[in-house]
Amino acid sequence: MGKIAALPELLVNQIAAGEVVERPASALKELLENSLDAGARSLSVELAEGGVRRMRVVDDGGGISREDLPLALARFATSKIATLADLERAATLGFRGEALASIGSVARLSLISRQADERNAWRIACEGGALTNVEPAALAAGTTVDVEELFYNTPARRKFLKSEATEFARCEEAFARIALSRPDCAFGLSHNGRRSAHYPPENLRARAARVIGDEFAEGAVDVRSEGAPVSLTGLVAAPGFTRASRDAQYLFVNGRFVRDKVVAHAIREAYADVLHHDRHPAYVLFLTMDPALVDVNVHPTKSEVRFRDSGSMHRFVFHALSRALAEPLAGGAPPPV
Ligand code: ADP
Ligand code: MG
Repeated sequence: MGKIAALPELLVNQIAAGEVVERPASALKELLENSLDAGARSLSVELAEGGVRRMRVVDDGGGISREDLPLALARFATSKIATLADLERAATLGFRGEALASIGSVARLSLISRQADERNAWRIACEGGALTNVEPAALAAGTTVDVEELFYNTPARRKFLKSEATEFARCEEAFARIALSRPDCAFGLSHNGRRSAHYPPENLRARAARVIGDEFAEGAVDVRSEGAPVSLTGLVAAPGFTRASRDAQYLFVNGRFVRDKVVAHAIREAYADVLHHDRHPAYVLFLTMDPALVDVNVHPTKSEVRFRDSGSMHRFVFHALSRALAEPLAGGAPPPV
């Protein structure tokens, strides 16, 4: 008698959700990335009870067609890549086609969307993995995703959630990373009906002032090493402004927040002469390169990358930063952002 059986689809999605949706903040990151991938310029987030009770993301992006709505919630269904070659050049934040299916398998999810040329919006919902019919709905152009009762049907996962305040703080951090990555977009965040952030489209220094603080933004040094195939731009703390903890270190590789030991090490080296050993430099840096030079498909959450040539990446970051840090000391006025 055989003992092996294929798992039911809901269970497959719930297992995948274990990797993609660890907590409300990870669901929020996925939803905001989807909005940016859809070309949104204005993104607003409403949370209730740390995002567990409810999370709503409203965007003004390109929307989803009526016929695509059920596919948007299907696992491994994506509009972003179609071939291996696309995967290797993907410039979008998402491409795995599993976030909405995963979230829908562990929460009550509804998706309302309207493309600009449509006369009305369409709505679909997903509960316990089962999709409703697509029904007409009212909404301005764009997409609204509502996620309620996260982990209501996976009690083990729900037990691992921290306090409401902690989960909200994690959501704020996920929001801050995305808001810093796109200062050209407007962002709003509210929690339990109270507004917590409201950012108009602005330049990076202004956005950094709101997210990291005026003290950092006013003294921060411009980094602008632009070129092919790699460039490094952004703001780094003036040598005098450093934090004892690592909480203001934002590295974006091709627009995506990542943690990377190679780059972090290169940054520390560049600061070595100007920084006390137990202090950490604050920074918002954008490392941009040909997508073929970096593998982002290392982990389902895409928070780690692998550079094809990490040695040359280390040298590039070290030199770009050393130059930027040397300039203000050489007496040149910092260039405007
Ligand atoms: P991925 O982002 O990897 O493609 P997702 O499960 O996150 O997978 O989303 C599935 C698909 O649903 C996307 O490829 C996209 O076509 C569509 N989609 C999701 N969110 C939005 C949104 N806010 N606006 C427009 N389309 C969206
Ligand atoms: Mg996605």
